[in-house]
Amino acid sequence: MSQKLHIGTLCVQAGYQPAKGEPRQIPIVQSTTFRYETSDQMGRLFDLEDAGYFYTRLQNPTNDTVAARIAALEGGVAAMLTSSGQAANFFACVNICEAGGHIVAAGNIYGGTFNLLGTSLRKLGIEVTFIDQNASEEEISAAFRPETKLLFGETISNPGVEVLDIEKFARIAHGHGVPLIVDNTFATPVHCRPFEWGADIVTHSTTKYMDGHGVSVGGAIVDSGNFDWEAHADKFPGLTTPDPSYHGLTYTKKFGKLAYITKATSQLMRDYGSIQSPQNAFYLGLGLQTLHLRLARHTESALRVAQFLQAHPAVAWVKYPGLPGDSEHERARKYLPDGSCGVLAFALKGGRSVDNRFMDSLKLVTIETHVADCYSCILHPASHTHRQLTDEQLREAGIAPDLMRLSIGLEDPQDIIDDLDRAIREALS
Ligand SMILES: *Cc1c(COP(=O)(O)O)cnc(C)c1O
Repeated sequence: MSQKLHIGTLCVQAGYQPAKGEPRQIPIVQSTTFRYETSDQMGRLFDLEDAGYFYTRLQNPTNDTVAARIAALEGGVAAMLTSSGQAANFFACVNICEAGGHIVAAGNIYGGTFNLLGTSLRKLGIEVTFIDQNASEEEISAAFRPETKLLFGETISNPGVEVLDIEKFARIAHGHGVPLIVDNTFATPVHCRPFEWGADIVTHSTTKYMDGHGVSVGGAIVDSGNFDWEAHADKFPGLTTPDPSYHGLTYTKKFGKLAYITKATSQLMRDYGSIQSPQNAFYLGLGLQTLHLRLARHTESALRVAQFLQAHPAVAWVKYPGLPGDSEHERARKYLPDGSCGVLAFALKGGRSVDNRFMDSLKLVTIETHVADCYSCILHPASHTHRQLTDEQLREAGIAPDLMRLSIGLEDPQDIIDDLDRAIREALS
């Protein structure tokens, strides 16, 4: 399409234009394999000489269509779906960082990613340095080493809801000849497109707003196509030198701007698995079609709830980038002009026992290890997801010990506020 389309139109239509007589909705191609007529046709697929489907672990039409929609939303050249957000961040890193490599990452990222980088990748021989994302460019630059392969951060951090200075991070990464990878899960491309600010690769836990209904775990990696791997060829030999497992093909030479995603699908997905099922990709495609509508409502309601909490005498503090006066507000106005997301963090006066009585008294807002879907839910990281950490370690991860993460769903905001108000009264009585 030559016409430049708005994000809402892309949510509904991007990636799929049915031809005459074809289904209007993206079809679910629930098939492991695909038939060919000659042995030679099949051989050419395995040489990556012809494009085509042969086994769903590598590519599937439903997944590719939904991936193309996400690529269009982010303004990237290509995307790949994965079985989870964890798999997306894992593949996004190991596609360009092998044993002996080093990663610099913001320390306030999602706990699962913190563990992935800090514990599991370390066991694979990849070193990680966590930095404070609000430190100066000089301080962050000091963490880089000759073997550093990438810089990593989250547009809006989970659970601290801190907003990343993407331009600053991109400048630092590019100054060191490496790409910036941004996990854009909470903002979604409806509210922020990190490529427009210099990020090179974007990842998603599609489990959150993109799916939006709490039905399917999934992830995605999107490539902007902008990073010049050849200009830093010695750092990224996996992309710029022949791959013996594909008859000596060199990804950058053969695929140009599609090198990174082609390597991720044809090499990592082939060897590590972790595909999204076509059925889940279909649910994701449905979710994307209303993403722009839902995110607007999540954001509007979250701001109302944040304002209610801010004015409540029993509340110790509230953190929401959309609140004027919030530490993140200025960066949010720059990077998230249409709003941040539906997640906020707050604490009640009186400590953990009051927090626990409060959460137990909630009726409409449920206690869940999840965020960012149509149901309002709450979690106390220090008691739940991060309960193995000491208060000191919590603070290092950017999580106050009294922080409760509240995810505002699509219910009527007044009912959410009434539930919170009643539960606070019961907790204090
Ligand atoms: C949930 C989440 C992940 C992990 O995604 P899963 O789909 O649960 O594997 C990664 N990053 C962020 C920011 C998340 O919120």
